[in-house]
Amino acid sequence: MNDQSPKDKLRQHFARRVTTQARVVLDIWQKIIDAPPTSAALQTDLFAATEKLVRYALRFDMTAHADAGLKLIELRPHWPPGTELDPALMARLQNPIDELYRVTLRRTDQECADALTVFRQAPVYVALDNQELMARLIKQLELFGFRTAAFTDARSLLDACALHKPETIVMDVNFGGAPGQGMSTVEQLQSRHETPIPIIFISEDDGTIETRLRASRCGGEEFFHPAVDPGQLIEKVEAYTHKTTVEPYRVLVLDDSRAQAKFLKNVLTRAGMTPYVITDPMQIIHALDEFSPEIIILDMYMPGCTGMEIAQVIRQQDRLHSVPIIYLSAEEDIGKQLYAMSLGGDDFLTKPIDPKHLVATLHNRGRRARSLLALMIRDSLTGLYNHTHTLHLLEQEIAKARQNEQELCFAMLDLDYFKRVNDSYGHPIGDRVLRSLSMFLKQRLRKTDHIGRYGGEEFAIILPNTRESDAVLVMDEIRERFSALQQPAGHRDFTVTFSCGIASSRGETSQALCERADQALYAAKAQGRNAVVTAPP
Ligand code: GH3
Ligand code: MG
Ligand code: MG
Repeated sequence: MNDQSPKDKLRQHFARRVTTQARVVLDIWQKIIDAPPTSAALQTDLFAATEKLVRYALRFDMTAHADAGLKLIELRPHWPPGTELDPALMARLQNPIDELYRVTLRRTDQECADALTVFRQAPVYVALDNQELMARLIKQLELFGFRTAAFTDARSLLDACALHKPETIVMDVNFGGAPGQGMSTVEQLQSRHETPIPIIFISEDDGTIETRLRASRCGGEEFFHPAVDPGQLIEKVEAYTHKTTVEPYRVLVLDDSRAQAKFLKNVLTRAGMTPYVITDPMQIIHALDEFSPEIIILDMYMPGCTGMEIAQVIRQQDRLHSVPIIYLSAEEDIGKQLYAMSLGGDDFLTKPIDPKHLVATLHNRGRRARSLLALMIRDSLTGLYNHTHTLHLLEQEIAKARQNEQELCFAMLDLDYFKRVNDSYGHPIGDRVLRSLSMFLKQRLRKTDHIGRYGGEEFAIILPNTRESDAVLVMDEIRERFSALQQPAGHRDFTVTFSCGIASSRGETSQALCERADQALYAAKAQGRNAVVTAPP
């Protein structure tokens, strides 16, 4: 990092401006937390500082900061000007603040390549009397990129939770020594929070129905008895951390009336969705490409064409086949409504529309569309993108990189001697290793990277806007950490390694890029495995 090019230096200079502005936001927030009555007076400052942050971050391409800032701003409509911040909203604002906190700390305190792996989660607290088990679980959790903290007494756990609500707590039912003491602590803890913290209970000697019921009633989502399997535990923790970060639905609105369009935009923003509004039907193709909506709202009657005609055009594109289309219109004739639906619409809502109905409809449609889409594009064992979709994404990203003149890397990864794992420990354990690697990758890569299961024990990763040298650093760090991960199998643990080939895009076809990455992977295997190798330029 010492022999930097002027361009790098400049980049770092700008990065510093963004992080300085992020600190301003965090400072204001800290004042609000310290003395909530000041929040009414600080509200304007907070959002003005955040807006500035977003402007800087977007200009200097620091998307993590921009995202966190935008999420803060999105919540602004819930806070009437000049009023004191209510605790429920404070808790919601805390999420983007935490995100900002994390990206800001990492950007300044760590090397550039490190900044490519982002810790997204709130901490996981571990409170066990069995010190040896606690140390082992924490080590595994940290390898997965979870931030953890260990506790040895109830007081400090309660204090920590008051300061920073954890994602989940791994807790001994008898934490503190006496039977049921851990559950008493949890009962006390939950009464302080509006939404309960999910608890993973561990009970080494008591598996009775009474204990299980009490654990479940105070927020116990899991109950491990008599032993805990670290692999299973990590799967559970990972499930909670993903449950809490539901991405906002991306909704495209086409309505020629500006007033109506603006109204819809407000309703959607307030419901926590991401709207994209156009008033000119001729912009539809551009909007579909640009925004990739998950739900589409169409006005029925517009100058030049009708909503039904637009729906037909949309349905002619294979990839948009399952995107729900909702018509909005003053049309009350049921016959006409049904006809419109037959042309590819999914719902018909009449104007004037009640925002509550609209939001409820969008949530229902959005949820179903996402689960359908997941079936189509995701691999069922790991939840990663399947082969076909990975290639589709690769093509998209190659086009985007070309357009924005950015670098792009593609990595192929194959587990080493995986057949032996199956042979020695059985197929189900092999499956768990595949899942653990997929979680590992999800945890350690950026949200903008795409991770796919390419084949049986092969994975593919698309790293947009990434230099080859950075891709190597990141993949090599993942390789090293993954190889240290203890894979549990009954009474003994084992470790698994992978080999990785990386190719940096030269603007060739996706197929050619894949081939080069595959050759690099082959070279990594040939040179003894457990290695990351780049394709020659
Ligand atoms: P190398 O280091 O050369 O890659 O050796 P390898 O044993 O990993 O490679 P090989 O291609 O010979 O074997 C791959 C094995 O991966 C064979 C197959 O049993 C296993 N495998 C593929 N898909 C799955 C799966 O979904 N679940 C499990 N458990 N095993 C799988
Ligand atoms: Mg293999
Ligand atoms: Mg293979």
